[in-house]
Amino acid sequence: MQKNILKFIILPSILIIILSVIYYNQVQYETNVLIQDKYALVIAQDKKQLATLIEEKQENILTISLAVSKYPSIQDVLLGKNSDQLKLKEFSTLLKDTTSMKNLWFQIIAPDGTSLYRSFSNKYGDNLTKARIEIADIIDYPRVISTISVGKFSITYKSIVPVYYKSKFIGLFETIAHFNSISKKINQKGLASLLLIDKKYKKQLVYSLHKQFLDDYYIADKNPNPTLISYLQDLTPQKVLQHSSRKYILDKGNNLLISSYTINDYLDNDLGYFILFKDLDDIDINDIQQIENNVLLLFGVTLLLLYILMYYIYRKLKHTEIEKKNQELEKNIKMKNDVLEYVSLHDSLTSLPNRKLFKKKLTSLLANKTIDTEIYVMYIGIDKLKEINDAYGHNIGDKIIQSTALTLINTLQEDALVARLTADEFAVALLIKKSSCIEVITAKLLKDIQLLQEIRGKQLAITVSIGLSSVLDEAKTSSLLLRNANTAMYKAKSLNGNTYQFYTPEMTTNLLDKIKLANDLNHAIINDEFEPYFQPQIDALSNTIVGMEGLVRWIHPKLGIIYPDRFIPYAEESGLIVEIDRIMMRKSMQAVMSLKNASTLRLSLNLSAVNLESANFMKELKNTLILTNFNAKNLELEMLESQIMKDQESSIALLHELKELGISISIDDFGTGYSSLSALKKLPITKLKIDKSFVDNLPYDKDDIAIVETIIALANALKLKLIAEGVETKEQKDFLVAHKCCTIQGYYYSKPLSQKDFKEFMIKFPN
Ligand code: C2E
Ligand code: CA
Ligand code: CA
Repeated sequence: MQKNILKFIILPSILIIILSVIYYNQVQYETNVLIQDKYALVIAQDKKQLATLIEEKQENILTISLAVSKYPSIQDVLLGKNSDQLKLKEFSTLLKDTTSMKNLWFQIIAPDGTSLYRSFSNKYGDNLTKARIEIADIIDYPRVISTISVGKFSITYKSIVPVYYKSKFIGLFETIAHFNSISKKINQKGLASLLLIDKKYKKQLVYSLHKQFLDDYYIADKNPNPTLISYLQDLTPQKVLQHSSRKYILDKGNNLLISSYTINDYLDNDLGYFILFKDLDDIDINDIQQIENNVLLLFGVTLLLLYILMYYIYRKLKHTEIEKKNQELEKNIKMKNDVLEYVSLHDSLTSLPNRKLFKKKLTSLLANKTIDTEIYVMYIGIDKLKEINDAYGHNIGDKIIQSTALTLINTLQEDALVARLTADEFAVALLIKKSSCIEVITAKLLKDIQLLQEIRGKQLAITVSIGLSSVLDEAKTSSLLLRNANTAMYKAKSLNGNTYQFYTPEMTTNLLDKIKLANDLNHAIINDEFEPYFQPQIDALSNTIVGMEGLVRWIHPKLGIIYPDRFIPYAEESGLIVEIDRIMMRKSMQAVMSLKNASTLRLSLNLSAVNLESANFMKELKNTLILTNFNAKNLELEMLESQIMKDQESSIALLHELKELGISISIDDFGTGYSSLSALKKLPITKLKIDKSFVDNLPYDKDDIAIVETIIALANALKLKLIAEGVETKEQKDFLVAHKCCTIQGYYYSKPLSQKDFKEFMIKFPN
């Protein structure tokens, strides 16, 4: 999965981001180039307009010069005649009034360069060839010269034309006009400008209008814009002119585009410069930006589509992967479930069927019984196994159990039903012909087992006690048959073992008489003889106490502490368990509430399924919670797997009700009864408690390891919490922790403790 994210999301994303940055920069660059081209184009257009304006006026002046030069009175002056007829000043005024030609001046020059007449001055007779090279030039080589030049006053247009009389060159006629009107005209067209005269004319401009200079450049405009002057001063004209090759200077801060247009003199030398200031807002670059936006949008959409595609592929792969994993898990669970089913119906030490399977098989045997057959049930207890265990160790005890199992199978007929019920007890069901003699079979069994003397080099006296029951005693069910056989076995044991007894009804009466248990229990309730003991539950990883299980103890005034295994079965049978569990709840909650860390601890209580049938159960539980001020979220009820599975429909409803209150439900002794996966899924349970019997032989017994691993896998698959009980050794604890079952209960940490001892334990336990 991780690999797929990397392959289909992260790596492509990085690639795309890099590409995007490159692409975005490229687009920006291209856009910039386009904008610069546009600026250059606009500047070029402006300059062209300027050039046209300059040329138009020049042409007009030349036209006037040409036309006037043909006047006879001009010739008269050049031929030395009277110049009274010359009304050029009036002509100038006429032009001023009727055309756009304001301020036109005229001069007549003799072929030797002497000024013969000036419309703008009374002075004449001076020679111009020294001061003005174009005059000298035109005299040498008469032709029309139309130029711009700088004089003592300012910059002017000058159109000089040769005058002929009878094909003879007789002099020159010159028309002069102000140049700076051009500035006015271009300003009217929305282009701000300053007209600068080249530095070399500084000395010459002795009669200049306002003597305003910028770095030795004369400002020729009539009313120059002071803002532009100071702006240009800061920028320096030098800089603008130097960069004229670069077409323009872009000043984004002032939103200006600055360029220059050079005016040349007669000899094509620099004479003056129009510095042009273009407002950037006047340049429409929307079309370019639109293109940029469209390109980026297209790119964005492509990226988005790419991403969707990648995500789609990733999802597809993830989906198939999850499918695959799910299938694997299902298969795994199914397999483990099968293992669990086998395990839950068989004893791990001997591989014999357990009580559950035995009863099931016996039930079907009973259903198929024919008239000519008889069914006998044997309850076989190994004599004094506990003593052997204590003396020689459990390994020898286990060996004895296995050998006994083997002898049972070998001695009895093939179709005999053999099961192991508890540590030292077996059951056998036999279907035999009425003619067969059960006593003979039983006697042979006793003898064969007695022969099992040497176990692992030790001489041991191994005997069993056998109780027998049959349908003849009006026992019709497997449970009754087993119970009767069990009662008979106790009788055999009381006769010192190594013998067998047939069940008789008197045996039951005697037994009941002997214990009078139900009665005693009633008294115990009235006399308040039940007390909760608490066994800590530890989180082995953090080594902290996370909770405790409340376990009932009967504090008998004469017999001392009586353990629940002795009276719970009878309490359940008689229904008194409901009352005992109620006492336990009240006392346990009160005890926990008196602890310092009460709010962080979880209290587990055992709940007999009999309670679920009690009408008042829910009401009383709620009352107890209120009375003791106990937080329901800290309460966990443990129910035996076998009980919870029995009456599913009605218990599920009640369990849901408990869950709604915030109470957790844990399955006690998990693994000992067979729970189907589907049934487990349906129950609102939160925790599995791995039974002590599976923990006992960890980490040495292969079967137990397999079972514990299966339960852990099952819990993980169903998202259930886990706790292990009966943990007595460090090895067991370490195995469980290594397999991620970290909540531990057992003698390894502590035995169940009285309320007082538990308080002390809490103080001493390292946190
Ligand atoms: P359980 O719920 O499976 O409780 C665990 C039993 O294992 C307890 O026995 C506990 O003392 C014992 N135990 C815990 N750790 C270890 C260990 O490391 N080694 C060994 N050998 N034993 C350990 P206890 O107190 O005798 O209780 C026996 C059973 O009686 C309980 O089994 C439970 O099913 C039932 N029980 C106890 N108290 C109540 C109660 O208040 N209400 C009901 N309905 N049943 C109860
Ligand atoms: Ca329990
Ligand atoms: Ca248990």
